[in-house]
Amino acid sequence: AQIDRPFRIAVVGSGPAGFYAASRLLSKRTDTCVDMFEKLPVPFGLARYGVAPDHPEVKNCEDKFEEVAESPRFNFVGNIDLGTDLPLAALRPHYDAILFAYGASQDKKLGIPGEDAQRGVYSARAFVGWYNGLPEHRDLAPDLSSGEDAVIVGQGNVALDVARILLSGVDALKHTDIADHALEALSRSRIKRVRVVGRRGPLQASFTIKEIRELLQLPNVAFDPIPQDIFPPEDFVSRLPRAQKRLMQLFAKGSANDRTTSPKSWSLDFLLSPDSLHWSSTHPSRLTHARFARNELDPADPYSPSSKVTNKYSSDGECAMVDLHSSVFFRSVGYKSLPLPGMEDLGIEFDAQRGIIPNDGFGRVRSPSGKGAPQELPDGSMIALLPGLYCAGWVKRGPTGVIASTMADAFTTADTILQDLTTRQVDQSAKSTVLGWEGIKSEAVGQGLRTTSWQDWRRIDAAERQRGQERGKNREKFSRVEEMLEVLG
Ligand code: FAD
Repeated sequence: AQIDRPFRIAVVGSGPAGFYAASRLLSKRTDTCVDMFEKLPVPFGLARYGVAPDHPEVKNCEDKFEEVAESPRFNFVGNIDLGTDLPLAALRPHYDAILFAYGASQDKKLGIPGEDAQRGVYSARAFVGWYNGLPEHRDLAPDLSSGEDAVIVGQGNVALDVARILLSGVDALKHTDIADHALEALSRSRIKRVRVVGRRGPLQASFTIKEIRELLQLPNVAFDPIPQDIFPPEDFVSRLPRAQKRLMQLFAKGSANDRTTSPKSWSLDFLLSPDSLHWSSTHPSRLTHARFARNELDPADPYSPSSKVTNKYSSDGECAMVDLHSSVFFRSVGYKSLPLPGMEDLGIEFDAQRGIIPNDGFGRVRSPSGKGAPQELPDGSMIALLPGLYCAGWVKRGPTGVIASTMADAFTTADTILQDLTTRQVDQSAKSTVLGWEGIKSEAVGQGLRTTSWQDWRRIDAAERQRGQERGKNREKFSRVEEMLEVLG
C-alpha cells in the first residue's frame, strides 16, 4: 500500500559519514526526511576538527555537506549529546530508522607507565583537537617550551600531521584556520627535533606518499637518513606495488635540506616499542626521555605488510633498550569508538574488542545472541539483525580510512536503508504517525537543552569567517561552546 507520510531517519553524528549517508538518502527518494543530531553546536566532525589546517583542500567536502543541508527535508539538531542529554530510546518511536555515525571519540593507549602524566605526554587526538579549536581540548596547553625534542609514537598519517604542525613554523600556518591559541603557543615552541617512532619496519608503516613528501619538502627542516640495513634488498623493492615502491624510494632519498645548516630536523625511527617514560630528578614535572625496546621483524617473513615483531635480545639474554630524548611525547596509535549510553536499551551490544557497532558489513546493526530478525548474508549464512538500526563510518568499520572511503561506506549503508525500505524490512506502515524531531523537541526543551539549528550554524560560521578576516585567515573558530552560543544571543 502507498504510505502517505515521509520516511523519517535520525542520523547520529554530523561528520562525513552522517552527511554522505544523508545526501544519498535524500537524493534517492523524495519521501525521506533526515534529522541529523550533533553533540557540538556546529557540524562536520573530523572534517572540521581532525583534518590539518594546512590541508584546506580536504575540507572542500564541507561545500557538499552545505548543499545537502539546503534540502527542506534536512534538519540539523546541534548541541545535543545523544545518549547523555537525551536517552536514545526516546528517538525510537519517532523514527523509522536510526543511523549511528558518531565516529570515534577516544584514542588507543600504549599501556606504558607514565602515559597518563598531566604534563609533557599527550594523545595525538588531544593535540590535533587543540590546534583545530575543538572545545574539549581548548585548555590542553601542551608543553612545547621545556625542551627541543618531540617523540611521536605511531607511524600513520595522523603522526605526520602532528610532526608537520610542530615543524612548519608559524609563518606557514598563520593564514590557515589553525586556532589562534595554538598559533601563539607554536610561536613560542622550542621544538627542533621530531622523531616519528614505529614498532615495525618501513614496509609496515601506513603513511601515504603525499604526507611524507610534504615533510621532506619543509623548508629549513632536514630529514635524518634511515639506516640502509633496515630496507629490504633493492630487487625486492623494485617488485613492490607502485605506491609502496615510491614510498621506499622517498625514504631512501630523504630531503634536500642539509642537517648541518637546517635549524630543525625529523626522523623515522623503526623497530622500537615504547617501554616507559622518564622525568627529571631535579624538575619532576619535566619529561626527559622515553625508553624503547628494540624489535626485530619475524626473520621468516620480514617484508610482508603484516610481519610481526619480537623484542631483540642480546647474547646474554637482555632485551636491547634505547633511550630517546623527549621533552614532549605524543601517542598516535589510533582512535577508538565507544558505545553510547543507553545503547543496550535498543538491544545493541557494542563490540568493545573491535570498537565498533556489530553489523552485517552493509550497515545493518546485528543483534546480540541471535535474537532479532533473521537475515541471509550474500555467502548464505544467517545472522540476526535489529530492524531499523544502522551504522556508518568509523563506528561501523573501525577508525581507519580517509574521507573518500568513509563516503563509500556511508553510501553503502544508505543504499541498505533504502533497500530495506523497498523490501519492507523497515515497515513504514507499522507506525501510523512518526513525527521525528517534532515529536521529541518538547522533551528536550523541557530539560533545558539549547539546541542549534542549521540557521544557527550559519550565524556561527559567518562570525568565525569575520573573525578570521580580521586576522588574515579564512576562519577563526570559536573554541568554546559558550562562545558559539553567545553569537546566537
Ligand atoms: P567523525 O568525523 O568523527 O564524525 C562523528 C561526529 O559525531 C562528530 O561530529 C561528533 O561530534 C558526533 N558525535 C559523537 N558522539 C555523538 C553523540 N553522542 N551525539 C551526537 N553526535 C555525536 N581524511 C582525509 O581524507 N584527509 C585527511 O587529511 C584526513 N586527516 C585526518 C586527520 C586526523 C587527525 C584524523 C583523526 C582523521 C583524518 N582523516 C582524513 C579521516 C577522516 O577524518 C575520517 O575518515 C572521517 O572523518 C570519519 O567520519 P565519521 O563521520 O565516521 O566520524
